[in-house]
Amino acid sequence: MTNVESLLPFNPGHCFIDGCWQPSDSTDSIVLHNPSNAQALCKIAAGNSVDIDNAVNAATAALNSEWGRFSALERGRVLARLGQLVTENIELLTTLETADVGKPLTQARADALALARYLEFYAGAADKIHGETLPYLDGYTVYTLRQPHGVTGHIIPWNYPMQIIGRSVGAALTMGNACVLKPAENACLTALLFAELADRAGLPKGALNVVPGLGDVAGAALAAHAGVQHLSFTGSVDVGAFIQTQAASNVVPVTLELGGKSPQLVFNDADLQEALPFLVNAGIQNAGQTCSASSRILVQRGVYEQVLELMADAYKNLKVGPADQDFAIGPLISAAQKARVESFIKMDTELTLVAQGTIVTDAPAEGYYIAPRLYACEDPQHALAQQEIFGPIQVVIPFDDEAHALAIANGTEFGLVASVWTQDGSRQMRLAKNLHAGQVFINNYGAGGGVELPFGGVGKSGHGREKGFEALYGFSTLKTVAARHG
Ligand code: ADP
Repeated sequence: MTNVESLLPFNPGHCFIDGCWQPSDSTDSIVLHNPSNAQALCKIAAGNSVDIDNAVNAATAALNSEWGRFSALERGRVLARLGQLVTENIELLTTLETADVGKPLTQARADALALARYLEFYAGAADKIHGETLPYLDGYTVYTLRQPHGVTGHIIPWNYPMQIIGRSVGAALTMGNACVLKPAENACLTALLFAELADRAGLPKGALNVVPGLGDVAGAALAAHAGVQHLSFTGSVDVGAFIQTQAASNVVPVTLELGGKSPQLVFNDADLQEALPFLVNAGIQNAGQTCSASSRILVQRGVYEQVLELMADAYKNLKVGPADQDFAIGPLISAAQKARVESFIKMDTELTLVAQGTIVTDAPAEGYYIAPRLYACEDPQHALAQQEIFGPIQVVIPFDDEAHALAIANGTEFGLVASVWTQDGSRQMRLAKNLHAGQVFINNYGAGGGVELPFGGVGKSGHGREKGFEALYGFSTLKTVAARHG
């Protein structure tokens, strides 16, 4: 087992507040586990409301000192340096994420590269986003200023810590906000290393503060804090709804990204060979623990059997095993997550199990492994076709025609991502317009992450947009200045 503690250039039991590592006010700690073998990795601080208070105060002070005086150009430059440091530390970030989250090495490395890419993108955008001058009455000059909210709170999950830090903290810093980040209690190491790298990049003290801790302690304290002017949250619907109530009581804006039940629609005229890797990978990537996982494959009856066969063949070759051995699928994050997925599997009685992957024989019995499962599902209302499972499980649902496909696709409470596989250009356009989703892909899925592409949901998938320039609008506020000069 990797001794991660010896790899860390900081004390993992500390919080990063006001530009330095400091012990938590709380005497409690949280033990991180390696999901591949359930062995303890190291202890992190169980931050509490005093730590959150200190972090918010440090962020507030930063806005009134060096960080608040940084020009857009200087913000871009510090983000560029940070992106460079992330790139230089790719192997360490990959090793930590593989051990902490159980991500296969390839996925962990892709996440680290995505973090660097977010920083690169936002570094370049920092001095290219601006207000406008507006034509108004004679004798007036009117213009808008795009300004930071102030202190932004970021509560993030364990499934893609690096990517979510990139898209939320990266965008917030670009606009000049000062951030308080509360990583997930079961995946913290790359968030803590990110703080160390930000410090080395020259980010002024207080601009980024990281307080690890439990959701209902540190997370709740951050969500409720009256000194926070914007909250962004990625995670479950229930916690997201709670965060929104907290934001409402302080009347601050909130960005919520809450997952989905994202469909891919495969029509009779689709190029099935091209579609196949997207159909499968979008469901099993990160062991299905992806907000934008495609857990529903909707297939027109003319090619239904063929798609089932192709996907079944792919599933039979899927191997599940320890993350550091880089199989297609690693373990789930925790015993609790494994139990949750198993509870869905117990509900599969009315479905046909078409194929499943294999857990390699030398995978430690204590690891949180689940073999991926592919089901044929005639009932779009079935629990496995409606609820977000967050595990490597896909259902394949038949449809008759376009209207039927659309009704099934839009027939859940979620709306994050959808994709359409057809050669018919008119159908592509109609569906792109009518699908309930924040992103629609035509003859692809996910577009490789797409740092540049606004991302977010409708319905219970949340609201607000991250990624691209859209995130910069979300992490800033617009002031209108009207000067009457005669
Ligand atoms: P998951 O079920 O996938 O772990 P959660 O929504 O529970 O997702 O967690 C996502 C993030 O929200 C984590 O950082 C977690 O600590 C935090 N969190 C959980 N409960 C609360 C809460 N009551 N208040 C604020 N943050 C919370």
